[in-house]
Amino acid sequence: MGDRDRLRDYRGKRYFDRTGEPRGSGAAAADRPRFVVQIHDASTMHFDFRLQVDDVLKSWSIPKGPSADPEDKRLAVPTEDHPLEYEEFEGVIPRGEYGGGTVIVWDHGTYEPLSHDREGRPVDFAESLEHGHATFRLRGSKLHGEYDLNRFRSGRHGDGEEAWLLVKRAGGRARTRGAPDPWRARSAMSGRTLAQVASDAAGE
Ligand code: MN
Repeated sequence: MGDRDRLRDYRGKRYFDRTGEPRGSGAAAADRPRFVVQIHDASTMHFDFRLQVDDVLKSWSIPKGPSADPEDKRLAVPTEDHPLEYEEFEGVIPRGEYGGGTVIVWDHGTYEPLSHDREGRPVDFAESLEHGHATFRLRGSKLHGEYDLNRFRSGRHGDGEEAWLLVKRAGGRARTRGAPDPWRARSAMSGRTLAQVASDAAGE
């Protein structure tokens, strides 16, 4: 599928002359695939978890945010593919626009695809997502270690029915830290909180 098709849903929902979000020009893919977690103070507060797969960011909305505690199973609802440039989007989407509200880049970095089949053989990462079972190791400034992302309920993509769980794999460094408080969390890009990004935008 071409870049134009993959970003059709994303572009169809937005007026780029108003929102300040990237339209997506097909930026060159980096060597290692990237990930980003944004905090989005929209009509309901949520985290947006995005993994680069080829030339787009596959995206999930995670109401409670990712947890470093393997006991926490975090609901992740898929959303439309976003352009690679979205990794650096931080700012305020005007009220009344799609997803209106403040966005900060809470964490970003690279990830290592680790998906495998039942016999433990490595499988193509994009394919593993299509089959609803992906494993990867995050290397961010806040998130580290291996995570599983598993689809537990199917639905038509984007209908809000399809649902996944994001769970930290046990092992590695012992951590019991849950999700961050979105209001106190700081941007990995600018060090700012949601409130600071909002007031900076208001003062522009
Ligand atoms: Mn969002």
